[in-house]
Amino acid sequence: MNLATAARRIPSWSLPLVLAVVVALLPVLGVGSSVLRQVVLVCILALLVSGLNLSLGYAGELALGQAAIYAGGAYVSGYLGAHGQTDLLVQLVVACGVALVLGLITGIPGLRLNKWALAMVSFFLVLLVPDILDLFEEETGGRLGLTGIEPVTLFGLPLDREAFAVAVVVVTALWIVVFRNLVTSRHGTAFLVLRESPVLASSTGISVFRMKLSAYAIGALPAGIAGTLFANLDQYLSPESFGFALAVSILAASILGGSASVYGALIGAVILQLGPLQSTEFEQYALIVYGLLLLVCGVLLSSGIAGIVGRLRKKVERRWLPREQAPPYEGELLPDLDGARLSVEGLSKSFGGLHALDGVTLDARPGEVTALIGPNGSGKTTMLNMICGYYRADAGEIRLDDTVSPRAPFQVARAGVARTFQTPSIPSGITVAEAVRAGRYATEHTSFLSAVLRLPAYRRARARDLDEAARVLTLVGLQDLAHEDATSLPLGTRRLLEVARSLISRPRVLLFDEVASGLDEDEVDRLGELIRRLRDAGATIVLVEHNFRLVLALADRIHVLARGSILATGSPAEIENHPDVLREYLGTPVASAAATPGGGRDDD
Ligand code: ADP
Ligand code: MG
Repeated sequence: MNLATAARRIPSWSLPLVLAVVVALLPVLGVGSSVLRQVVLVCILALLVSGLNLSLGYAGELALGQAAIYAGGAYVSGYLGAHGQTDLLVQLVVACGVALVLGLITGIPGLRLNKWALAMVSFFLVLLVPDILDLFEEETGGRLGLTGIEPVTLFGLPLDREAFAVAVVVVTALWIVVFRNLVTSRHGTAFLVLRESPVLASSTGISVFRMKLSAYAIGALPAGIAGTLFANLDQYLSPESFGFALAVSILAASILGGSASVYGALIGAVILQLGPLQSTEFEQYALIVYGLLLLVCGVLLSSGIAGIVGRLRKKVERRWLPREQAPPYEGELLPDLDGARLSVEGLSKSFGGLHALDGVTLDARPGEVTALIGPNGSGKTTMLNMICGYYRADAGEIRLDDTVSPRAPFQVARAGVARTFQTPSIPSGITVAEAVRAGRYATEHTSFLSAVLRLPAYRRARARDLDEAARVLTLVGLQDLAHEDATSLPLGTRRLLEVARSLISRPRVLLFDEVASGLDEDEVDRLGELIRRLRDAGATIVLVEHNFRLVLALADRIHVLARGSILATGSPAEIENHPDVLREYLGTPVASAAATPGGGRDDD
């Protein structure tokens, strides 16, 4: 084994582990109590920030209720502590329960609202905290604060200042392990898919509703934990600790450290907690500085300090630790696919006054390529969107084999309908192989817990994810790009990536939306060959395509759409000479585009 291979074998978590051990030993080494206090505060802020990172950085949901959830956890723990329940573990469990409930309540608007409305609603909730505390003055002490919290214990033993600090570091380190295991798992990729686009998420069978709720719930946990820790730090709570400034500093730390990262939460927390200590006048200007930080970070470092470190690491790895080439895929590349008959009957859809589809009937059979062609704006993409369940039909019906197609997009996907998008939809911040594996998330269910604990069931699912990704990447010819950054690829390659993603779930029906545009001639030929093989394997294929030559070469049947209605249906030979089709195509700008491979067009 050479040095590079050895270096690659060192797990990425070894450095953080060493760091955690050192910090946990600090109290034992006899550092001053003011240092201990700062260590505890950094841990608390890091917990808060990591919760925001999960919902914002990974799931893309701007839920800013952390400070309110934190207050909930703190006051509940404080109340318990003041009423004789001083055990740290009990308090943590109760606070987590409260946090879950609050996380769901503050998140629920996000199921209906867009990103910014959710941000506003959850932020207002933070502003209400002092009033809510006032309302329950008897229990919370109102504006005067909650006093009389008894010293914390663990299994009946009192925790002195040093022991408490060790406990805080250990709890924080444990949470970071949980967080890391979660976001590096297939669930983490699924969150990134949701962040990229709910449409994409549901097209791979992810329930957007469930995924968002999970993000709010899991993201709330560390805030509840932080609350318990804070309540026991000074044994005193006051509403001022949970205000607007805290909410802004959590956001600032998240963005500065890097929202889509695990250790970015720690980096951001260290800087925002320890930075202000350098100046006593800081408090006064805190909000201004945080605001400026947010502005600067938002403009200059989109992925925060963790992003910069990550890019540096990649450079170093590329230079010094060349990746071993993956061995070629050994198994069967294309197993038989169990195609389903897709029948659309009398389908109509209007957007306002515009009849995008008007009584369209078409039929796609297993083992056939059914092409759907027509000028721009004729309703082809709308047709695919309707099949996928994104819009409700004004009239008509869509059937898969003999059953009416399910309503919700994620259910359609789980019924075996996979697609590519006219504008490729690929999450940022992941590799080609990860983007492809995301297509398999719903095919095989694994629980969050099994991912966090890396249980055997999870490991098996992951092994199959890796194996299937290698298979479909080889199938589309992208196996050598598996570890590249997915969004940095040229358009043609991104299209092939989407084809691979659509194939990984072994779909019954494949919907390709202008999949050949942006591909060079070689790639078009290879794609044509692949589509033929998929058809021969038994898949039902619907091909929306502007490249007329490709359509004529591949299609078994062609449907021509014009202004939302079927103009003609027939074999390639029939369509090629159909007078109506010729009239529709000749003399329109589309005719020339259709004649050139790739369509010469890349619109959204
Ligand atoms: P094609 O894919 O054939 O180029 P589309 O299906 O994208 O055409 O669009 C058909 C028509 O429906 C266009 O006029 C388009 O502007 C309109 N349309 C599509 N989706 C929507 C929508 N969500 N809201 C309003 N109009 C839409
Ligand atoms: Mg289209």
